[in-house]
Parts: sequence; C-alpha cells; structure tokens
Amino acid sequence: MQETLNYINENKQRYVDELFELLKIASISADPAYKDEVLKCADEVAKHLKNAGADHVEVCPTEGYPIVYGEKILDKNLPTVLVYGHYDVQPPDPLELWTKPPFEPYIEKTPLHPEGAIFARGAADDKGQFFMHVKAFEAMMKTNTLPCNVKFILEGEEEVGSKSLEGFVKQNTEKLACDTILISDTHIYSNEQPTVTTGLRGLSYVEVEVEGPNRDL
Ligand SMILES: [Zn+2]
Repeated sequence: MQETLNYINENKQRYVDELFELLKIASISADPAYKDEVLKCADEVAKHLKNAGADHVEVCPTEGYPIVYGEKILDKNLPTVLVYGHYDVQPPDPLELWTKPPFEPYIEKTPLHPEGAIFARGAADDKGQFFMHVKAFEAMMKTNTLPCNVKFILEGEEEVGSKSLEGFVKQNTEKLACDTILISDTHIYSNEQPTVTTGLRGLSYVEVEVEGPNRDL
C-alpha cells in the first residue's frame, strides 16, 4: 500500500496535468457541433487506459458515440471489478453564470474547498471521477499491487440518455462479465458528508397532477 501511495505522491502533478488536458476537451454530447471533440475525447481516454496498463483497449463504435473499453485480467479466479464512467459532459450554458471559461480548468481555494478544487465543465461529472479510477489503476499496475481483475467501460452518451449503452451491454455480456460494478457518477449529500451509493436499479420519473374541489367543502 505504501508503495502505491508513494507512486501517487510522486506523480500527483502529472495526474493533475493530464486531467486538465482531458477537461479542456469540450466533449458535449448533446450538441452535434461538438462531435469532433467528443470523438477526440474517446481517443484520449483510450490512450490513458493503455498508458495506465490496460490490455485490449478499444474504442468500440456504436450507433452514437463510441464506448471505450479496457481490461486487466490477472487471474480468472480473482474477482473482477467493472468500472463505469462517462467522458461526455453537459452543455455549459448559461455561459454568463461561469466566472471563467468552462473548458479552461483551474484550481481555486474557496470557503467550501479550503485545500483548493478543480473547476471546469466535467471536473465533477464525470471526468474527474473516472480519471481517479484510471489513475488508481495505474498506480497499482506500476507498483504491482493490483489485487483483482479490472474492466473499464467509459461511454460518451451519458448526458443524452445513454442510448447506445443497452445494446452494447447486451451484445457484450461475456466481455463485460464481472463480480461488482464501481461507479463514481452518483450523489453527494454535502461537502461534509462523503456518500456511498450501494445499489442502483435505474431511474423512474413521474409527474403527479392532483386536482381537488374548486370550493371549500
Ligand atoms: Zn454523470
């Protein structure tokens, strides 16, 4: 463990620099004008997986934006963790609410973040989170401390309803087989309260309209 932590400390600045480069890519899936940026982001994510030590890295085409896959299988008898994340981001408008350009990341100390936090579109949803997993994986790969098999599935359509994901999952059940799924694209209740979501069963949205009598009964 100490060796892994040393590796992270020694490489911390490079980790941050690399994340900044990823955050500069305007991978806005909802706006077709940014198509090239989304595709470029997929390629960059694949490079990061390869550099981190993943095997069989693929930019898998779908009807929409590609899904980036990579894996490290140490031993078939070990458990397998599947990491899910997304490299697309929400559109940044309304632009006037940004104090600095959304795709020019910077670190700033604020009352909420006295140690400093990274500000950019996608920094907290979801590039920062999946990059953390990729870099944790890298640290364990480089120090020979990875304790289990790992698979990554990083999509580019989460912000537009993950249209291609279901078909991809159905077509690749063998490839995606795992014992547990690790997702850091969920909730945080407050900055003082770290939050772990232990189960996801999909979302359902309902609109409830209630009508009552039009006079006092
Ligand atoms: Zn997200």
